[in-house]
Amino acid sequence: MPVKFENASITDQVVLITAGAAGIGRAIAEKFLSHGCSVHVCDIDRAAIDGFLSDNPGASASVADVADVAQVGAMFEDLSELYGRLDILINNAGIGGPVANLEDISPEEWDRTIAVDLSGQFYVTRLAVPMMKRAGAGSIINISSTAALFGCPMRAPYSASKWAVIGLTKTLAMELGPWGIRVNAICPGSVDGERIERVIERAAAQRNKTPDEIRQAYQRQTSLRRFVSADEVANMAVFLTSDLCASISGQAMSVDGHTESMSNVMD
Ligand code: NAD
Repeated sequence: MPVKFENASITDQVVLITAGAAGIGRAIAEKFLSHGCSVHVCDIDRAAIDGFLSDNPGASASVADVADVAQVGAMFEDLSELYGRLDILINNAGIGGPVANLEDISPEEWDRTIAVDLSGQFYVTRLAVPMMKRAGAGSIINISSTAALFGCPMRAPYSASKWAVIGLTKTLAMELGPWGIRVNAICPGSVDGERIERVIERAAAQRNKTPDEIRQAYQRQTSLRRFVSADEVANMAVFLTSDLCASISGQAMSVDGHTESMSNVMD
């Protein structure tokens, strides 16, 4: 059942969502589709795209790794050919990266995490901005994380890239505001799903704890004592890009049940 925002005109927008074939990106894609938008997703995983398109035949997609400049360029060629314009960009692609003390992280793991989580947003946004400037309007959401509000032990490249995403968001909001383009970040807390289960497994192995102990420790970090759902993050994406938020730019909005700290998983 789509959430209806009174007076929010979001229908008919062309929306690009990176890593939109699964997880939070897919929830966001399906939410925009339910509001009558034209949705194009990219994903590095062809099988995930096939599954997404078979469940959502009204959407379109490109196979692309956001950390690869040429593949991002090809994705924009697909988008331009299909729609000729772009109203909303959701920079969602991001990987969890290694779970290890800094000195145990290899330069390759560091580079890949920064390449996907930060440079990917740059590669995509630099091609989106000229399209939005030509239209004199647009809305960009960069997916950050509550890891950008605190330090996040044993996840240095992830936390560093997600902090950088906030800097990118605030800077772009300043550059693009005069063009009528809004830029905001969303900081999800731990989202129920496969990905957080993978992070929990890795953290449990690293810290010699059981997955249940790690899960409970994560949940104790929030005032609401639970993980959030991908659907709740998707609702924020639609709300923030709708004209109900026409004056909101340069903000980092948390959807996280209020994270109180990120250090007690070390207890
Ligand atoms: P996920 O691990 O479930 O992956 C979703 C999709 O991303 C997959 O289909 C995968 O193929 C695709 N993908 C991976 N690398 C890619 C790349 N280089 N280019 C294109 N596609 C790629 O991810 P998720 O949990 O849905 O996370 C989405 C975003 O939300 C990320 O930026 C993540 O950092 C952020 N986030 C997630 C959580 C969480 O608990 N899941 C919490 C805070 C922030």
